[in-house]
Amino acid sequence: MPHTQLRYDALAAARNWSPAKTGDFNMQITEIFGENTLTLEALKARLPKSIWAEMKKTIVEGAELNIKVADSVALAMKEWAREKGATHYTHWFQPLTGATAEKHDSFITPNQGGGVVSEFSGKDLIQGEPDASSFPSGGLRPTFEARGYTAWDPTSPVFLIENPNGKYMCIPTAFASWKGEALDHKTPLLRSIEALNQQVKRALSLFGIKTKRVLATVGAEQEYFLIDQEFFYRRPDLMTAGRTLVGAKPPRGQELDDHYFGSIPDRVLSFMLDAERELYRLGIPVKTRHNEVAPGQFELAPMFEDCNIAADHQQLTMIILKKIAKKYGFECLMHEKPFDGLNGSGKHLNWSISTKEGMNLLEPGDSPHENMQFLFFFSAVLRAVYKHQDLLRVSIAHAGNDHRLGANEAPPAIISAYIGEQLEDIIKQLLNGGLKKSIQSGLLGLGTPVLPDLPKHAGDRNRTSPFAFTGNKFEFRAVGSSQSVSFPTVVLNTIVAETLEDYCGELEKNLDKKGFEKALKDLLVKSLKETQKIIFNGDGYSDEWQKEAKKRGLLNLKTTADALPYLLHKKNVDLFLKYKVLNEKEVHSRYEIWSEQYVTNLTIEVDTTEAIAKTMVYPAAVRYINELAAAVRDTKKLGIKNSGAANMLKTVTNALNSLGKALDELAEIQRKMKGQAIGEKCMEYKEKLIPAMNSVRDAVDFLERYTADDYWPLPVYREMLFVK
Ligand code: ADP
Ligand code: MG
Repeated sequence: MPHTQLRYDALAAARNWSPAKTGDFNMQITEIFGENTLTLEALKARLPKSIWAEMKKTIVEGAELNIKVADSVALAMKEWAREKGATHYTHWFQPLTGATAEKHDSFITPNQGGGVVSEFSGKDLIQGEPDASSFPSGGLRPTFEARGYTAWDPTSPVFLIENPNGKYMCIPTAFASWKGEALDHKTPLLRSIEALNQQVKRALSLFGIKTKRVLATVGAEQEYFLIDQEFFYRRPDLMTAGRTLVGAKPPRGQELDDHYFGSIPDRVLSFMLDAERELYRLGIPVKTRHNEVAPGQFELAPMFEDCNIAADHQQLTMIILKKIAKKYGFECLMHEKPFDGLNGSGKHLNWSISTKEGMNLLEPGDSPHENMQFLFFFSAVLRAVYKHQDLLRVSIAHAGNDHRLGANEAPPAIISAYIGEQLEDIIKQLLNGGLKKSIQSGLLGLGTPVLPDLPKHAGDRNRTSPFAFTGNKFEFRAVGSSQSVSFPTVVLNTIVAETLEDYCGELEKNLDKKGFEKALKDLLVKSLKETQKIIFNGDGYSDEWQKEAKKRGLLNLKTTADALPYLLHKKNVDLFLKYKVLNEKEVHSRYEIWSEQYVTNLTIEVDTTEAIAKTMVYPAAVRYINELAAAVRDTKKLGIKNSGAANMLKTVTNALNSLGKALDELAEIQRKMKGQAIGEKCMEYKEKLIPAMNSVRDAVDFLERYTADDYWPLPVYREMLFVK
């Protein structure tokens, strides 16, 4: 029974794990913060005044950069990196795989004397050509003209990645084809920031406010699971698909609600402190940590930042969490649904709009009914979400997230907005012709003089909403834990820019006739009347909501296969085109790439399920059947009745037969799959392959409950979730 021995070894190894000595943890956050990133302050200190002035224009106002400035900046960067001990640099970019990519170059160049000098020019900084022809391009980049370029993004600071044996400098860059088409997540994000900037500025000027620049702010809360690596490497499904494809529900999961916000286990806390230290050193402002609902599930949240930097930092956060976890013998699972029957992981994308000077445009203040500027931007977001539910759904569509959306603990696949009692009431007042008051919630008395009266928030929370207004920002909760926050942010920025442009047009048209106040009020009334269907403050998990949403005509795109085709609808292509965020080809390429990814991920899952069933589960069950059969035979010879073994023999044999049948059906479906066009293929996967794969799983999970534990080859849920 070799497999079983491995499982027990894994348990012993996990139990005997002890923390490696990992350095000095007298962590002084303020001292180490940003030491591995070249902050603007540090860059400024290294540049001549005139160069800095030009550089700042680029960073703050988005002005174009000239090569002389770039040369000076490159020199300063290289010196900084070398002082820190870096030998190499890389353009760091975000291809449409959703991960990050890098190709390192050393700083050295040969000199006359046959030696080398270190060199790094403005050109090296600004542009790279990493060939990189194997990244998905969705037809934007045929391999015979495979050039791809990376271009420095001066608005996101460079940083160092460390290894015990050396360091290298990473330069955040955009990635585009030879024709200038975006092959990455950063380019459209930067374009969408510009679109939003222009429209918000225009809107603000109507309110008499001038600002240098407007930005979208993003703070993304990251959920993840930790399991011992000993188990991870014994689970082919976790290794290839990132989630368990088989595994029976343990007798105890999250029912007791005792993990959520519980005291953090020591080994996990050591990991968190270490990971957070690395994040601080990279200048990433992580703020909160806690246990999440499912056993083995945790969360980390940063303070919000400019969305472009937040997106880079979010990618880095995932990288660092995964890397540091290994140091503590853990594997960090970012998948949306690593364990069936337990809560999945999301990434709450908190989003707002702010002026460069720090005015949050979604801050309602104490009496929102008097804050027309707030109501203007707030209604604009609601209208944008109503108008483009489909795009928001597309922006979070991938195979992993399908397990969450619409499953019981995550937001449903229906996009709606939760706005709380106070704002709901204000909208009602507005639609009824007058704005008189903001419901104040007063103090919360706790019934004992030793506890203070707490000020109550104006609205309660609603965890079941995919898009919730939480005080002074919206929280897009349907984003998947493994995905980049870039595209959801691109969609938010662009759809809000569009509504603001519509709003401004309408206001400007009516200003003279009606005066500002009246024109504004009329505009908001008209807009809210049209779009208030998107507001839902009730229970998003309930069946009634599914029915109610249908009545309201809201979309309910249950899976990736249902959602992705909406990307190509004319309204959406036109929108991206109008705001120069994506051209038609770029939109199509994304549809192609994400559909391919859907199919590929599912293919990996199907193949892995089959392999596990045939090569691990089947043999275990057969061994047990042999043992049972021998027992039945031998006891019979002795004239003893053995109905226990005989019944078990029947049960396990039947289950094995069912597994065989399910596997045959899966193979048959695969054989018959004929989908040629990618959209058709996605549908076939969704409608036929996934259910067939689930039937195999059911049979395997049944066998897990009946096969002798010491024959079972796979670490079980109980072990993976509770051994820390
Ligand atoms: P809550 O209690 O509503 O969850 P927190 O202040 O704890 O609010 O914030 C949760 C997340 O929202 C954090 O990542 C935080 O940085 C982010 N956040 C707060 N304000 C904003 C904002 N104006 N724009 C974007 N994100 C924000
Ligand atoms: Mg939250």
